[in-house]
Amino acid sequence: MPKIDAVVVLSGGQDSATCLKLAIDKYGAENVAAITFEYGQRHKAETKFAKSLVKFFGVKEHKIIPLDFYSLLTTNSLMDSSIAIEKKKGAKTPNTVVEGRNAFFLLAASVWAKTLGAKIIYTGVSEVDFSGYPDCRLSFIRAQQKAIRLALDYPITIKTPFIKMTKADEWALAEKLGIFDLIREKTLTCYNGIPGDGCKKCPACKLRLKGLKEFLKRKKNGS
Ligand code: ZN
Repeated sequence: MPKIDAVVVLSGGQDSATCLKLAIDKYGAENVAAITFEYGQRHKAETKFAKSLVKFFGVKEHKIIPLDFYSLLTTNSLMDSSIAIEKKKGAKTPNTVVEGRNAFFLLAASVWAKTLGAKIIYTGVSEVDFSGYPDCRLSFIRAQQKAIRLALDYPITIKTPFIKMTKADEWALAEKLGIFDLIREKTLTCYNGIPGDGCKKCPACKLRLKGLKEFLKRKKNGS
């Protein structure tokens, strides 16, 4: 088995798919592994998209981790389709927030990385165009990296290439990497499980489309 350098947290959405491409361009597809989590999200089709991205890019190592217990700990509109997706006036986050999700994901990815001998974790979080999720902030990522290093006694580095990027910047990067159409058509960001441009109504679609429009406008204006 080739040496694995990096593990990418891959949901099958725009951010993580672009992260996967960045990791592959740096380390080569054979040296990159991907990890996908099923935590009871209503857009379960994410896994299907993650699998097809892995296949497309020729990544050999892909683990799908069931976090079936998550619904025993918390609930939200992302995991319970009987709750309407919304952001209440004055609320910091939409009711799609999955408490502590990235903390679990990063720890699990790091444990597997150590098993594989990899020291780099990629995650597509951004603290610019995000829905206010506390575990998408750089301060959390830094603290989590420190905690994981102590927990595993292993020098994990968590890479967050989009932490200061807007969605429009991410679209520009996708174009630069030659994967604009792939990202636009073959990823699933929508909380209602509709691929590509999605339902256009949920918070994830709104963010993605706002960024896309901004990017296309910029491109038209040649900036
Ligand atoms: Zn949507």
